[in-house]
Amino acid sequence: MPKTPEDIIRDEIRALTAYHVPEAAGMVKLDAMENPYRLPADVQVEIARLVESAALNRYPDPGAARLKACLRVAMGIPPGMDVLLGNGSDELIQMLIMAAARPGAAVLGFEPSFVMFRMIATFCGVRYVGVPLTPEFALDADRVVAAIAEHQPALVFIAYPNNPTGNLFDATAVARVIDAAPGPVVVDEAYHAFAGRTFMPRLTDYPNLLVMRTLSKSGLAGLRLGLLAGGNAWLAHVDKVRLPYNVNVLTQLVAEKVLRHQDLLAQQAAAITAERTRLFDELKRLPGVRPFPSDANFILFRTGMADGVFNGLKQRGVLIKNLNGSHPSLVDCLRVTVGTPEENGRFLESLRATLSNL
Ligand SMILES: *Cc1c(COP(=O)(O)O)cnc(C)c1O
Repeated sequence: MPKTPEDIIRDEIRALTAYHVPEAAGMVKLDAMENPYRLPADVQVEIARLVESAALNRYPDPGAARLKACLRVAMGIPPGMDVLLGNGSDELIQMLIMAAARPGAAVLGFEPSFVMFRMIATFCGVRYVGVPLTPEFALDADRVVAAIAEHQPALVFIAYPNNPTGNLFDATAVARVIDAAPGPVVVDEAYHAFAGRTFMPRLTDYPNLLVMRTLSKSGLAGLRLGLLAGGNAWLAHVDKVRLPYNVNVLTQLVAEKVLRHQDLLAQQAAAITAERTRLFDELKRLPGVRPFPSDANFILFRTGMADGVFNGLKQRGVLIKNLNGSHPSLVDCLRVTVGTPEENGRFLESLRATLSNL
């Protein structure tokens, strides 16, 4: 008898719903934390030249030595620490969990937080422990320390700032988690460009700390490049589950080039941060709308009838993220990425029109 998917595919995979990316053609796209700005024309020309001369017939440099050297400087990675690159930081999360997926192992994260921690744990057949944040989305250090004692997680993931809530956890609480964890604690700094706080220099204080970054939220989402920094004792093993050539030739060349223009990315991040303040103030002024403070390039806000507001915005050509129903503490919550001043204007205008029509 030929086998059916029910016989072959693991139960927990059949139970998943595929990660849904909505169609966004022609919309004001404020749903995915992308940087709205392109690179200046002269840098685009430099990139075009690089692509023209790239040896696409060859495999990429498997160790990406030149790119790593650039990243060490750009990201302030302390001397003596190792760097591992991923096809986006999602791939690094996958490598970490895959390497630690012993029978019975658990991965610990927070609720609500970045959904890929839980999803990738499921892909790897690893139990996921989601410790609730407080209703104001703070890290409850006592509760986390108790959960760590109970579950002895192989890995702990902390998004800093957190997605989808946007806040930075208290650094002392994060330090308590690092002290309490039996294994590596991965501080995921995907939004570092907009936060100004980091655990990167603390790598030398904590042998079980790993810091993850990505270029996705600072302007290079299309390139797919993430990095993990930390001690060789951990990274040497994680590196063994990395597929060879996971960072392609074009990503290596272009990322290196753009990192030489880091001032441009910093200017764009500063423009986004300034717009975040304006957007927050405007949202606060709208009746029935409560924005949560953000250290990232997006703002979480609560509003009555969130589904209706989301659909009203969509009908007006503005795509944001509906989080209502994704977690009990995100009831009536929507998340908007900070765009250009024009895009944010379109969003606010559409939001006002939607709210007055509900
Ligand atoms: C967006 C995001 C990532 C994934 O980034 P990629 O490098 O694009 O894979 C990782 N962590 C958090 C918290 C994110 O929000």
